[in-house]
Amino acid sequence: MPTAAAGPEIERLIALLARLPGLGPRSARRAALFLIKKREQIMAPLAAAMRTALEKIEICRVCGNIDTQNPCTVCTDVRRDPAIIVAVADVADLWALERAHAVNARYHVLGGTLSPLDGIGPQDLSIDALVSRAHDPAVTEVILALNATVDGQTTAHYITDLLHGANVKVTRLAHGVPVGGELDYLDEGTLAAAIRQRTTF
Ligand code: ZN
Repeated sequence: MPTAAAGPEIERLIALLARLPGLGPRSARRAALFLIKKREQIMAPLAAAMRTALEKIEICRVCGNIDTQNPCTVCTDVRRDPAIIVAVADVADLWALERAHAVNARYHVLGGTLSPLDGIGPQDLSIDALVSRAHDPAVTEVILALNATVDGQTTAHYITDLLHGANVKVTRLAHGVPVGGELDYLDEGTLAAAIRQRTTF
């Protein structure tokens, strides 16, 4: 086992940073060193921002978005079209669509996709809540903005069947999304085009 180059507090900081997505042990070490060198300009404000976020973050009771207000900023924005609900697997997808200014609608975060292999069934996702929102007479369309993966498409078909009873058009993203593609990784132009050219399920 290699000997630690720094005291336990710094090694713990590195170990925690290494658990962030996209950061391996080497870049975590580099990030830790950067934070330590810039402790006044970056580390202290970052620590304060993280503490505030930790105290204030809530899951939106309407759509499942993460925000510091509940219902969230998106759900309470009166300029959004209340007729359209965009169903996404994850908050990261919601944020990606917002970054792309792809659609001026409301969202519904499912919390994942159906995955029999991983033991994720309908009861593990926020599907019932989506179906109940779709029965609101103000809602006319549900866009299934799900990954172009097997699990994403299985989920889309499952939800489409459930929505037959609701008086809504069910659409999905156009073929701008590559097969196997994850929305969070698409560039903003592709995402916006995929929403604009959506097709009826
Ligand atoms: Zn919300």
